[in-house]
Amino acid sequence: MGCLFCQIVEGEIPSEQVYEDATCLAFRDIRPQAPSHVLVIPKQHLDSLWDLEDPELAGQLLSAAAHVARQEKLERGWRLIANTRSEGGQEVDHLHLHVLGGRPLGSMLPSAGV
Ligand code: AMP
Ligand code: ZN
Repeated sequence: MGCLFCQIVEGEIPSEQVYEDATCLAFRDIRPQAPSHVLVIPKQHLDSLWDLEDPELAGQLLSAAAHVARQEKLERGWRLIANTRSEGGQEVDHLHLHVLGGRPLGSMLPSAGV
């Protein structure tokens, strides 16, 4: 209860969905950091990647992220980010993967902007 992304899964909060399957949902980030910025989440609530112990679900999430990258036509390159827990920069406590692309992303260090 009270989880923003669970509310998105339930359709209680609107989102721009780009992909859905039995276990995962993907929707556009409301504050995009790149031309393509999509969040891929498990429909089932997990607080973060710290709590992901099911290898099947891990594979489904990764597979969904790759599907989104192809759907977004990110053949030039893209990045997957999982901010995890407070010192990892996580703001929403429902596991999510950021799919970012559509511009040169440069260094992988946070000081470079992503
Ligand atoms: P993180 O820092 O990894 O927890 O990122 C959370 C992300 O969720 C941020 O990039 C936000 O812009 C994004 N976000 C927050 N609320 C929403 C929402 N209602 N719909 C889509 N994205 C959201
Ligand atoms: Zn949740």
